[in-house]
Amino acid sequence: MRRLMVDRTYKGVAVCNQFPSKQPWEKCRMSRSCLEAESASCSHASESRLLRIPEQTNHRAWFLYCILEHCSSQALPTCNCLLGKPRHGAVRIPCPRPESLAEAGAGLALESPGASSEAGWVFPRFPETPSWSRGSPAREPAPWPREDRGAARPAPRAQAAADLSRCPRSATLRPAMLRLAMLRPATLRPAMLLPATLRPGAPRLQGLGLGRSPRRPRSVRAREGEEKPPLSAERWKWKDKAETVIIGGGCVGVSLAYHLAKAGMKDVVLLEKSELTAGSTWHAAGLTTYFHPGINLKKIHFDSIKLYEKLEEETGQVVGFHQPGSIRIATTPVRVDEFKYQMTRTGWHATEQYIIGPEKIQEMFPLLNMNKVLAGLYNPGDGHIDPYSLTMALAAGARKYGALLKYPTPVTSLRPRSDGTWDVETPQGSVRANRIVNAAGFWAREVGKMIGLEHPLIPVQHQYVVTATIPEVKALKRELPVLRDLEGSYYLRQERDGLLFGPYESQEKMKVQDSWVTSGVPAGFGKELFESDLDRIMEHVEAAMEMVPVLRTADIINVVNGPITYSPDILPMVGPHQGLRNYWVAIGFGYGIIHAGGVGKYLSDWILHGEPPFDLIELDPNRYGKWTTTQYTEAKARESYGFNNIVGYPKEERFAGRPTERVSGLYKTLGSKCSMGFHAGWEQPHWFYTPGQDTQYRPSFRRTNWFEPVGSEYKQVMQRVGVIDLSPFGKFNIKGQDSIKLLDHLFANVIPKVGFTNISHMLTPKGRVYAELTVSHQSPGEFLLITGSGSELHDLRWIEEEAVKGGYDVEIKNITDELGVLGVAGPHARKVLQKLTSGDLSDDVFKFLQTKSLKVSNIPVTAVRISYTGELGWELYHRREDSEALYDVIMSAGQEEGIGNFGTYAMNALRLEKAFRAWGSEMNCDTNPLEAGLEYFIKLNKPADFIGKQALKQIKDQGLRRKLVCLTLATDDVDPEGNESIWYKGKVVGNTTSGSYSYSIQKSLAFAYVPIELSKVGQQVEVELLGKHYPAVVIQEPLVLTEPTRNRLQKKGGKGTI
Ligand SMILES: Cc1cc2nc3c(=O)[nH]c(=O)nc-3n(C[C@H](O)[C@H](O)[C@H](O)COP(=O)(O)OP(=O)(O)OC[C@H]3O[C@@H](n4cnc5c(N)ncnc54)[C@H](O)[C@@H]3O)c2cc1C
Repeated sequence: MRRLMVDRTYKGVAVCNQFPSKQPWEKCRMSRSCLEAESASCSHASESRLLRIPEQTNHRAWFLYCILEHCSSQALPTCNCLLGKPRHGAVRIPCPRPESLAEAGAGLALESPGASSEAGWVFPRFPETPSWSRGSPAREPAPWPREDRGAARPAPRAQAAADLSRCPRSATLRPAMLRLAMLRPATLRPAMLLPATLRPGAPRLQGLGLGRSPRRPRSVRAREGEEKPPLSAERWKWKDKAETVIIGGGCVGVSLAYHLAKAGMKDVVLLEKSELTAGSTWHAAGLTTYFHPGINLKKIHFDSIKLYEKLEEETGQVVGFHQPGSIRIATTPVRVDEFKYQMTRTGWHATEQYIIGPEKIQEMFPLLNMNKVLAGLYNPGDGHIDPYSLTMALAAGARKYGALLKYPTPVTSLRPRSDGTWDVETPQGSVRANRIVNAAGFWAREVGKMIGLEHPLIPVQHQYVVTATIPEVKALKRELPVLRDLEGSYYLRQERDGLLFGPYESQEKMKVQDSWVTSGVPAGFGKELFESDLDRIMEHVEAAMEMVPVLRTADIINVVNGPITYSPDILPMVGPHQGLRNYWVAIGFGYGIIHAGGVGKYLSDWILHGEPPFDLIELDPNRYGKWTTTQYTEAKARESYGFNNIVGYPKEERFAGRPTERVSGLYKTLGSKCSMGFHAGWEQPHWFYTPGQDTQYRPSFRRTNWFEPVGSEYKQVMQRVGVIDLSPFGKFNIKGQDSIKLLDHLFANVIPKVGFTNISHMLTPKGRVYAELTVSHQSPGEFLLITGSGSELHDLRWIEEEAVKGGYDVEIKNITDELGVLGVAGPHARKVLQKLTSGDLSDDVFKFLQTKSLKVSNIPVTAVRISYTGELGWELYHRREDSEALYDVIMSAGQEEGIGNFGTYAMNALRLEKAFRAWGSEMNCDTNPLEAGLEYFIKLNKPADFIGKQALKQIKDQGLRRKLVCLTLATDDVDPEGNESIWYKGKVVGNTTSGSYSYSIQKSLAFAYVPIELSKVGQQVEVELLGKHYPAVVIQEPLVLTEPTRNRLQKKGGKGTI
């Protein structure tokens, strides 16, 4: 029996198995040289041919015609042709009946000879068959592409289309090669079951170690929208100047081009080295979801889905968007807790999300084995989209709004110019760009290397499996929701009348594409796939068969194994890069399909308005640094991939790749005494073990083994004296004749006097909080700037950019790695330190917020009288190599005072009681400093026109709509963490920003944003924690007075106590 299948759908390429060698194209009226045929292995049992078809549309048409003719003459029992045609959308011709095929061929053939220009070409686009769209909320495919149709459509083709649309689509495109259940015996190596071309040893790409793509992954899903090619003139036009050059035409790059052009940016140029989608995009499973545990990443997902819903209408390109909803399955009690935790974090967002019980789950997914199912997290509106069609639609939109998309145009080198512009070199010429955006997918590292950067990215292999028609699926009345079995670690969705199943293997089993890490991505790697390896995913197959028993008898018709780029924490890197002017990145997308739309919008807003539209610090490319070595990145990528579906606890720690070389000088001394947290490459004590207590890492949604020890550390600081390693702080030295002017322009606070320190905020032009720093004026015009560990390069980039923009004569030095920091805090801090220094530490001589150079036991330090605990304390900045010695002398000197260690968990409880706001929680780009209660630090009357001043004045004039308040609440065994929903009269009215247990009042404590009318002291609200609503009350802050205030009040004869 002969079968024919054509399944390469992208531009200009078709793979046809058992294609008799010469016949078809000899019939073509084009020269043989137009077709470059080469042997290739494919997923079929026999030899196939890869045919590269030249660009001209009439040749494509002829090619299609020849195939059809061939099909009909062979009287094939099954045939399915799936061809891409750039101008008019996908052409899908499923046809079991030779006569229909002949008719279709004839219909098309009638068109082809006469057509002399592109505009004359018309191809039918076939509507979805009933079985595919049945019950699915997916859009109906667009009717005939009117704009392409020409004046009158000839009757024969219409007839052919009508016939074809009646043909039932054949899902079994080739002999079922592998039955899922057959994989089960451990001795049976799946590879043995694979057709010859998929087996190890089958022909490979020259020296790449890669199997030829088994076939186009979307072969069972037709290309529902095809790119509309550029007009001929546009195709060849070249711009030697551009406002923004985007490197890479995957879904992310194209989305950015679309958004920038739509927002009105002129001269947007996208350069793609081969063809659009030619990286990870073309073969993605296309899952889309509203769900994300990250707070503002939910917004990204939301924006993507809202865009994808209307893209077809806007661009006329079908995107194949199905929205049957999705259910995450809980089969363990802790997973149910996680769902509750996620519900409270989602409650104050636009996203719809529900916890549903087993009955509802069964109703929505009748094929599920309910034995272990406890609950589900349901997101209506989730689903899947055809990534190729999506990209083509975005491309059509980008062009419509004036962007130029050039391909094949590889960027071969990048040269920064002194004025901040870039020369972007390609074989076609160079472009002078005001800004470049690296969106090169798994080549992003290569692009980074062109300018000396090592982006921390690792390509990993990800597989999914598509089954043939499953009768039980076919019999369903509506499309199944996407299922995520979190314990089984896989996703599963309906693909036509079969299922698509994608597992995430454990970190031990998953596969990093090592050779690409060491030697780079092979230059010739295009739209290829890796050899499939079903062994690797066996345990997930087992789990899936147990959960969805119909899989046991399902035939596999397709295995896709493609490269995804992983960053260490699996989140992409989006935004401007520190150290290089006007170099932006949108790289490292593990889930680029769902991120593309939202990230394109986010980035375009940022580029156009000079500040991010909302806070996404977790995507800041500058969260990585020199410490992010390849070794570290690889270890982390493994871990992140393997942890794709693990329970996401608050205060989660991940241990792969640690410690980096960036450890503080105290790491050896403290490493075994405490539970360390990871902060920008540093290890920092979270909490200290107490003798006889459980020292394991025990994450929980409730209070866990650190709860008691942290209470002891709290007391240590409040009653005696404690030492904390603060070395992870970001530290900058700024000096030069314009340093004061620069800082006055950057900061909303005044410049501290020489020898003093203050807390200053950098605001965005719209008056939101970009950063918070401690500014110490060390000597006239010389400053020490301190920021949190997570914002080192984030802040530095902003400072450097403003310095260059304003032409300030300053020297800015990042001294983060040079200095260690020890914090000494508590009522006896002075007594202990005074033993070690000749400097006078008395309150009158070394005042609160004063900074001095001292010698502590002969170790030179810059001492700042400040403590985030709110207690009497100093931060001692010293050479990193002196950390251990300094720590030792302080600990020895404090024996009498009962000195002890404390970590950041205790620090958090202490600062919350003192109502100290934390950057990243209470304040960020989502908040203005007035609503955050930072008025004290904002000097709207200072002469300098600092960034954000005008906007902030306006905000003040208009009045605030919400306010940060401090809440106390009595709970049982759970404390607020931040981002929980605040309820009032049955409605969500706000959100917490951070929280802790208050060891002073034995209640929980939280900061929260609430509407201004609910911000008065004494106001009652509710805080949702793990599914329960706890009564909470707005209190007068701070709960505990700071030591300087207590001191002041005492001096005045006031209370001065807690
Ligand atoms: C099997 C599989 C299933 C997946 N399923 C999903 C899913 O269900 N949902 C989801 O959200 N994500 C999924 N993903 C991930 C998703 O495919 C990627 O995150 C996404 O496609 C990345 O898009 P991108 O635009 O960043 O990169 P790419 O698609 O890789 O595009 C980068 C482009 O840059 C071009 N380029 C590179 N270097 C240069 C240069 N020097 N000059 C010019 N151009 C250059 C390349 O040719 C390429 O076209 C899946 C991935 C795989 C492998």
